[in-house]
Amino acid sequence: MPDFVIPPPAIPAVAVAGSASTFPVRRVFCVGRNYAAHSREMGRDPDREAPFFFMKPAHAVVAAQGKLAYPPCTQDLHHEIELLVALGGGGADISPENALALVWGYGVGLDLTRRDLQAVAKEMGRPWDFSKGFDASAPCSALRPASEIGHPSDARIWLEVNGAVKQDGNLREMIWSVADIISHISRFVRLAPGDLIFSGTPAGVGPLLPGDRVHGAIAGIADFDFQVGPYPGENESAAQV
Ligand code: MN
Repeated sequence: MPDFVIPPPAIPAVAVAGSASTFPVRRVFCVGRNYAAHSREMGRDPDREAPFFFMKPAHAVVAAQGKLAYPPCTQDLHHEIELLVALGGGGADISPENALALVWGYGVGLDLTRRDLQAVAKEMGRPWDFSKGFDASAPCSALRPASEIGHPSDARIWLEVNGAVKQDGNLREMIWSVADIISHISRFVRLAPGDLIFSGTPAGVGPLLPGDRVHGAIAGIADFDFQVGPYPGENESAAQV
């Protein structure tokens, strides 16, 4: 055993549907503006801009179930429903033709965003880490192996808050396909087993409030349900959860 000076942190992991085994998370990559309608709602022109990437800490991954705490330091927590791509293989300079062979499986997750902090970061030209990579900012469904479900490219992806549909798109609307995304990231960094990719969100992003019941799904792939906890420092009855 290595001689660590403190107990080593647990390895973050995502559940696997119908299995006691889990998928260990190495890094979390996120794609920005990969659906044209969402790009336009954020004030950009999707025809003039290539998608770009940012990251969340692996320990930001949590199971999208039960009750998830409303994070501190924001008044505008936003939901972004996204296809999750879990890599079982890796490499550098991977061609789009070879990219899907690296995928272990798929799921659905939320790229939770402190939109108010992100707006300040954009304005000031500062990093997005604290608007995108805070604790529990990456709730994930259980994953399904590609060996069972194949490689989805045409499926409804949607999010409901308190039973009302807020985001409603289809994976075929992605500007860059899963294969394109993997190929592109692998030019910048050497991908590895355990890497998890959030592949961008369709239009309709908006706020989550304490007490909200959140349901997300990709048809035939995965789904999740959870409830948002009270504001930090508020007890449950005050927030009427
Ligand atoms: Mn996103």
